Amino acid sequence: MFNSLSDRLTSTFKNLRGKGRLTEAQIDGTVREIRRALLDADVAVAVVRAFVAQVKERALGEEVSGSLNPGQQIVKIVNEELVGILGGETRRLNLAKTAPTVIMLAGLQGAGKTTLAGKLAKHLKAQGHTPLLVACDLQRPNAVKQLQVNGERAGVPVYAPHPGVSSEFESATGDPVAVARDGVAEAKSKLHDIVIVDTAGRLGIDTEMMQQAADIRAAVNPDEVLFVIDAMIGQDAVNTAQAFNEGVGVTGVVLTKLDGDARGGAALSVASVTGKPVMYASTGENLDDFEIFHPDRMASRILD
Ligand code: GDP
Repeated sequence: MFNSLSDRLTSTFKNLRGKGRLTEAQIDGTVREIRRALLDADVAVAVVRAFVAQVKERALGEEVSGSLNPGQQIVKIVNEELVGILGGETRRLNLAKTAPTVIMLAGLQGAGKTTLAGKLAKHLKAQGHTPLLVACDLQRPNAVKQLQVNGERAGVPVYAPHPGVSSEFESATGDPVAVARDGVAEAKSKLHDIVIVDTAGRLGIDTEMMQQAADIRAAVNPDEVLFVIDAMIGQDAVNTAQAFNEGVGVTGVVLTKLDGDARGGAALSVASVTGKPVMYASTGENLDDFEIFHPDRMASRILD
């Protein structure tokens, strides 16, 4: 991931190494290269503009320190800015003081939520948690079945509506808000310490979908709302992330399909637009294709 961006920046910075004090014209030249590299990596235009402005301001304002040459100084600044936008330190899951911790997944259809639900459940189970998956994607045919399959693979139970069978609790089986509420009640009664709520997406943003996600959020009061986004989405990342952040309110970001051709610009765009950290990365279709996201490693990867 980020290959073209890292190659670009590396060659840019190689040109700077060994040179003496940087002039404003040289900084401008570097900034132009950074801008082009980020745009090539499909980072949103507005995000690129803000990023390069910030780098330039710092480069101009900072003394070139003794141990670093000017090129290294700019690499350092770019690195720190990248890490900052991507969330700084690796952000750990916010666990509820009183169990269960409720994690809600939100995002467009096809983003990889249902797959991620299984991955996250497996990961948390391996850490000693006792998660319960809750199937609230009642929109997409097969989503409930898909979650059940993932749950089985992860060795994690799934709470799902059973058509025609009234639930132990009060929900109507077709209402995702009621299913979410009942899923949390189920987790409490069966002493699961974490609940992962999979929700429905649409191919595009629409108000009905946003309202449903907002209603689920209001019903279960999640400790985390993870916005799941396909890293291949490119420039649309900004609008989508903004819509979910405003419509539902997100606490963290998960990037999926980082195994594909995505150049990863979405990571910067989404983190920058939402101000929320990227917490996990999904890198394939199997349940083990899952990583905790490390902003510093990602930034070095971008720069290496
Ligand atoms: P949802 O509609 O958001 O629940 O998306 P799904 O979890 O059903 O995923 C949509 C498709 O993307 C499925 O075919 C998944 O197997 C695939 N998928 C999900 N995550 C990844 C990933 O990280 N990499 C790849 N290559 N495919 C993925």
